[in-house]
Amino acid sequence: MHTQPAPNFEQDGTGRAAADLIRACVHCGFCTAACPTYRILGDERDSPRGRIYLLKDLFEEGAVTAATRRHLDRCLSCRACETACPSGVQYGRLADLGRAAIEAGGGRPWGQRVARAALRNALSRPRLFAMLLTLGRAARPLLPDRWKRLVPPARAAGPWPAPRHDRVMLAPTGCVQPAVLPAIDAAAARILDTLGITLVAVDTGCCGALGHHLGATDEARDRMRRTIDSCWPHIERGAEAILVTASGCGAVIKEYGHLLADDPQYAARAARVAELARDPVEVLETAVAHLAPPRWRRVAFQAPCSLQHGQKLAGRVEALLAAAGVELTALDEPDLCCGAGGANALLQPAIAAALAERKIADLTRDGPEAILTANIGCLLHLSGHGRAPVHHWLATFDPFSEKE
Ligand code: SF4
Ligand code: SF4
Repeated sequence: MHTQPAPNFEQDGTGRAAADLIRACVHCGFCTAACPTYRILGDERDSPRGRIYLLKDLFEEGAVTAATRRHLDRCLSCRACETACPSGVQYGRLADLGRAAIEAGGGRPWGQRVARAALRNALSRPRLFAMLLTLGRAARPLLPDRWKRLVPPARAAGPWPAPRHDRVMLAPTGCVQPAVLPAIDAAAARILDTLGITLVAVDTGCCGALGHHLGATDEARDRMRRTIDSCWPHIERGAEAILVTASGCGAVIKEYGHLLADDPQYAARAARVAELARDPVEVLETAVAHLAPPRWRRVAFQAPCSLQHGQKLAGRVEALLAAAGVELTALDEPDLCCGAGGANALLQPAIAAALAERKIADLTRDGPEAILTANIGCLLHLSGHGRAPVHHWLATFDPFSEKE
């Protein structure tokens, strides 16, 4: 599909980059059946192909319309369309350019601007979020259900093993996870310790994923640079990997090399950090024989979009669990987003709730002992329905978790 960028987008280079990405699309529509918003809403403009047409118009006309903003806002950034696309269209990168253009173009109603800024600030500032979480937990009985899920009751993290091994990996603390569920990284540290690896928590703050998904490009890039600066001294001392236990953050950190490629000061370090980033499954799948006996015998695994489509690790956690002797229930729609993609659990509550209900029904149909996932956003979004407990899959192999 040919795109002739408008002068304003020609000048800043984004029009040419968007045109190159749009060119790969041959309008075949194979992506539409994979798209959660199209499956829920049935509107071509809420499909990947429809959004690509809207973005082509945006970059050619040089102005943002309310329709473009509305239909792009509904996109969950799940990238299921990329997996389905036979032409290799990099929809995620195109949507990133579109979101940045939409935010820079102005015209977003002030109520939405305030809500998005509040969300970015509340979720990506760890100390502020921890304070709000404490207040939220106190007021939990009065909160509506969709907010209750964001403030689950406190759970003990358990001990973090003292450093004692030559092999070292880093755990970026991120923003939401250490306050809501510190047990996830602590479980990773305990598991790695039994394998002869010290996991060092690095106080990075937000990795930039949230701002990136909301089109706040400059803010997101600043957070990425801060994450790199925090990890870099450890990398120079020989840390062999950066373990990212939230697959949504992992998917973005693995893109740092691309996202900071035009920053002469950070490009090389960003590429190195991206290269070192690992999801836990990439570290543990070769060590199954040395893991603790599994805590559950029969589980349903919810593969986050950021894991299966973003990091292209589809089937890997399932294979690890199966190799450890855990039975996985069959799902009808394993590739369907749970609705938490991007920040849509909060910004598009109707779509998010419809997808969550569909996902929970699929996950609980065969009566699993637990639902396991790999991303904090999905974990919170799917919790609280009362049909099965929801955990990070690492808890399967963490003896401390069993004591809760
Ligand atoms: S599947 Fe790929 S090539 Fe076909 S319409 Fe969708 S994005 Fe375009
Ligand atoms: S990223 Fe997900 S929601 Fe967005 S267009 Fe692609 S499949 Fe649809």
